[in-house]
Amino acid sequence: MSENPEQIEELKAETSDEFYSDPKILEHYALLQEIGVFRQINSLNKEIRNYRDLVSGGLDIINRTSLDAIMDAAVYRISDHFLPSFIAFLWKPIQNRDEITIKSYQNYRPTDLGIRLHSIAPFEAFFRKHPQPIAYPLLVSELEDSNVLQVLEKLNPEIIIPMVGGFGLYGIILMGHKMLGEDFASEEILFIEHLMAFVTQAIMNYLNYQHSLRDVKTGLYNHGFFLHRLDEEIARTRRGKYGSAMLVMDVDKFKNFNDAFGHLAGDKVLETLAITLKQTVRGEDVPSRFGGEEFTVLLPNTNGEGTWLAAERLRNAVAEMKVPWDPPLPQVTVSIGICCFDHREQLNTDGIILRADAALYMSKQQGRNRSTVWNPGMGHVEG
Ligand code: GH3
Ligand code: MG
Ligand code: MG
Repeated sequence: MSENPEQIEELKAETSDEFYSDPKILEHYALLQEIGVFRQINSLNKEIRNYRDLVSGGLDIINRTSLDAIMDAAVYRISDHFLPSFIAFLWKPIQNRDEITIKSYQNYRPTDLGIRLHSIAPFEAFFRKHPQPIAYPLLVSELEDSNVLQVLEKLNPEIIIPMVGGFGLYGIILMGHKMLGEDFASEEILFIEHLMAFVTQAIMNYLNYQHSLRDVKTGLYNHGFFLHRLDEEIARTRRGKYGSAMLVMDVDKFKNFNDAFGHLAGDKVLETLAITLKQTVRGEDVPSRFGGEEFTVLLPNTNGEGTWLAAERLRNAVAEMKVPWDPPLPQVTVSIGICCFDHREQLNTDGIILRADAALYMSKQQGRNRSTVWNPGMGHVEG
């Protein structure tokens, strides 16, 4: 069995010079070649190269900081090896476990394949038992959900890879057949399995991290994250030329509301209010739940007038929002306190929040359902 000259050259390129210039090797060259030593070295070199690719690809994926970037990197790494007819990632956010998000690729580019799957629950029991990639036909025999089967049949994936982590099944990855027509070889499936383990880890890290920043009931940022961003923003305004602001918003007479309509109705109001809040502020603003029926918003690069307008827009949106509840509930209103800060300010986060609180207190005192901007005449309430 002899190597072809090209393979020998490739082998030489990857194996140290000393090895080939060793007189003992040269002396037994023909024998070594005949018994397949060079072939063995060649195949080991290839395997090492694949593992190096896998590790560098894996690290690249793990270091990405957005879901899009994680998936783009995974698809790019796969493109080094083969072209599947499509790749689709389906995952469920931790916050809303019933809803799934889908991103699909064709020709390595994001493409909407019109996948209409609303839950990955039907896959859950199966992948709990077998947490490895599986060929589609094998899965079909175990799936009972006819809607899921219909969607899969249309897509005709070749392999389905589960994303399994601490909280169970996070999602699945579907991969179509190879465009060149042959089946996936077993080492290719192993490569996909290993690469996707990195992808799964990266996606889970991202989802867990996002989850740790959020308030469970409303999905808004939590108070810890708000403080962190406020601190950053104070530092930024001290360096820069622009000013920023925060507002604190408190539901009026909410205790009475709960007493009259019950806590569940009260919870629904808070959830709806959070949606209204998210829809009303700009993308760069940071809406968060301070706790209870109090919310805060950080407004980077916004002057006093802009913050006042934002506060009033928010207050009016709340006064008009429809809470889905049967029987219909009366409108709730909110009071708002505003504190603006810029490079002249020497206050820390506590100082800014105390001022916003003092302004809120003024809104409450003056009859509620209004916004107030802090001014030096107000001082601030302690505690
Ligand atoms: P004010 O206009 O002065 O703010 O009056 P208030 O009744 O809203 O103020 P108070 O601080 O006395 O009461 C706040 C109420 O908010 C008490 C509590 O029942 C309610 N609340 C706080 N968190 C939640 C929550 O997560 N769900 C529900 N349903 N109610 C909450
Ligand atoms: Mg309150
Ligand atoms: Mg209140």
